[in-house]
Amino acid sequence: MPRSLELVITAVATRLIAVDAATAAGVSRQVLAELVTHFGVHSGFLRHNDHAIHATRLIAEWPPRTVDPPDPLDLVYFADADPLLALAEHLKEPAVFRRDAPEPGHDARATTASTTAYVPLLSGDVTSGVIGLVKAGERDWTAEELNALAAIASLFAQVQARVYAEERLRFLAEHDDLTGLHNRRALMAHLDQRLAPGSPGPVTALFFDLDRLKAVNDYLGHSAGDRFIRVLAERLALASGPSMIARLGGDEFVVVPEAATGRAAAEELAHRLQSVLSRRVPIDGEMVTRTVSIGVAVGMPGQDSTSDLLRHADQAVLTAKNTGGNQVIIYSDAISLESEFRNDIELHLQSVIETGALFLRYLPEVDMRTGKVLATEALVRWQHPTRGLLSPDAFIGVAESINLAGELGRWVLRTACAEFARWRANGVGRDAVLRVNVSSVQLVADGFAESVADVMSEYELPRGSVCLEITESIVVQDIDVTRITLARLHEAGVQVAIDDFGTGYSVLSLLKSLPVDALKIDKSFVRDLGADPGDLAIVRAIIALAEAFGLQLVAEGVETETAAMTLLRHGCHRAQGFLLSRPIAGDQMESLLRRGRVSVDFSGGPA
Ligand code: C2E
Ligand code: CA
Ligand code: CA
Repeated sequence: MPRSLELVITAVATRLIAVDAATAAGVSRQVLAELVTHFGVHSGFLRHNDHAIHATRLIAEWPPRTVDPPDPLDLVYFADADPLLALAEHLKEPAVFRRDAPEPGHDARATTASTTAYVPLLSGDVTSGVIGLVKAGERDWTAEELNALAAIASLFAQVQARVYAEERLRFLAEHDDLTGLHNRRALMAHLDQRLAPGSPGPVTALFFDLDRLKAVNDYLGHSAGDRFIRVLAERLALASGPSMIARLGGDEFVVVPEAATGRAAAEELAHRLQSVLSRRVPIDGEMVTRTVSIGVAVGMPGQDSTSDLLRHADQAVLTAKNTGGNQVIIYSDAISLESEFRNDIELHLQSVIETGALFLRYLPEVDMRTGKVLATEALVRWQHPTRGLLSPDAFIGVAESINLAGELGRWVLRTACAEFARWRANGVGRDAVLRVNVSSVQLVADGFAESVADVMSEYELPRGSVCLEITESIVVQDIDVTRITLARLHEAGVQVAIDDFGTGYSVLSLLKSLPVDALKIDKSFVRDLGADPGDLAIVRAIIALAEAFGLQLVAEGVETETAAMTLLRHGCHRAQGFLLSRPIAGDQMESLLRRGRVSVDFSGGPA
C-alpha cells in the first residue's frame, strides 16, 4: 500500500482511538473531511444500520448540508431507500457505483453523473453501517484505495461498537429493566436539575402506588405480574404528556411533568392518570383491575430539595393508601389532615381505657351452606368525645405509634374473653370460636403468648376456642420472633389466623413452616366477586392454597349474594360480611349464638 494511504489510516486511527459516545459524531465528521480532501471527492457520509427497524441512520457527513428538520436523510428505511443506499443493508465488500443522476441530497453541488464508493462497516457477519464517498462525475478507485477504506471502516466499526456499549450501559444505569422507564437514579438527577435555583417552577411529582398489586404477583405468577406492570407503564407513558416517568421498583411509579405545574393542574393530571390506570388489563385471559393511589407534591426550585419533594409525595401516597386507597392526595392536605387527627387522637387515647370509651362489637362468621354461626370476631370501637364513633382503622395505628397498642390489645383480649366466657357459662357458643385481632406491636412483645394463655385459663376457655388474627405483614417483619411466639401460642392451644390474606407480603413459603390454622381472604378481593374476574382468579388461587396446606379458609366482606354464591361454588363456605350480618353488640351476639344460625336463603338457589 502506498505510503500516503498508510498515513491516512494512521491519522484516522489516532483520531478515532480516543473517541467516546459524546465525541463520536464530531470526530467522525472531521475524519470524513480528511477523507474527502485526501481522495479528492465532493462529499462523504457515515451511516449506521438499525436492523431492528430495517433502517439506516445518518451519523456524520462532510460537508454539512443545511436542511430544515426533519432531514429526510436522517433516518431512511431500507424499504424506501434509493436502490444504492438500499445496498448498505447487507453490503459485505467495498463497491463502487456510478450513476447518471446526482446523489440525492448528499452533494447538492453535483449536477452531473456521480461515482460513489461504498464501504461497509462490519461487525462479525453483520453489516452495521456504511461509509460513502461521493464524487461528482467519474472517478476510478484502485483496489489499494478501497483496501485502505476497508481498514478505515473497520476502525469506525470499532468506535460504533464502543459507543453502542457505552450508550447501552448508560441506558441500563438510568432505566428500569422491566419497563424501559427511567429508574430512581435518573429521576433524582432530573429533579436535582429541575429544582436548581433559577429553574422554572413549580415542579410537581406524582407518586403512584398500585393498591394490591402484590396479589397479582403472588397468585397469578410473577410473569403475569411483570406483564401487568409493563401494560401500566405503557399506559402511563401514553397518558402523561411530556414528562419524566420513573419506576422505583415494585409497583411504584413517579411522574414529573416537564412543564412547570402548579397544584390545580397537578391534581387534574393525577385524576386523569388514575382513571387511565384503573382500566382493566387482560392477563392470561383474565381481566385484572387494580386501583391506584396517587400522592402529589409540589416543590419550588431553590427552596425544596429532590429528597423533600419525593418524601412529600411519598407521604401523600401513604395517606392515600391509609385512608382506603384509590385516592389522590396532595401533600399539604395530607399533612394537615394527618397531624390534626393524630394530635387529637393522641390527646384522648391516653385516658380512653379508664374512661370506658372503648367497647366491642362482634362480627359473626357463618357456614354459608347452612347459616350455622361458627365463630365471632371481636372488633374494637371508640366513642370519641368530639369525633363520634371511630373505627379501629382510625386509631390503632396511632395507638401503636405512642406505645399504647399493648395496653389497648390487653383490654380487648380480656374484655372479649370475659364476655365469651359469660356466654359459655350461659350455655351458648360452646362450639364457637372467639376471634381477636392482634397488632404487630403486641405479637412481638415479650411474654405475649404466656399472657394470652393466662387470660384463657383465668376464664377457663378450652384449647382451640380462641383464635388470634394477625396480618401477613407482621409475619414477615420479624420472622424469628414471630416463629417462636406462634409456636408458644400453638402449644398453649391458641389458634392463629392470617388476616387480610392476599394484601401483604407473600408468606406462601412460610405458611408450611408456621403453625397457622386459618387464612382470611381479604375483603377487597371478595367485595366485587362476580364482577371482577381478576379477583376471582386470585380467590381461586387462595382457595387452592388453603386446601394444599390444610388450612381453614374464611372469606371476609361478603356483601352480595353473587359473592356468596361464587365462593360457595369454588369451595369456600366460611364467611363473614354485611350480607350475613353487620357487627353487633355483645348481647345481640349472645342471642345469635343461642339461635345458632343466620338465614342464608341464597345458598343453593339462584341469586
Ligand atoms: P378486619 O380484622 O379485617 O375486620 C373486618 C373489618 O371489616 C371490620 O371493620 C368489619 O366491620 C368490616 N367488615 C365486615 N364485613 C364487611 C363487609 O361485608 N363489607 C365491608 N365493607 N366491611 C366489612 P372494622 O371493625 O372497622 O375493623 C377494621 C380493622 O381494624 C380490622 O380489620 C382489624 O384489622 C382492626 N381491628 C379491629 N379490632 C381490633 C382490635 O381489637 N385490635 C387490633 N389490633 N385491631 C383491630
Ligand atoms: Ca380480623
Ligand atoms: Ca381482615
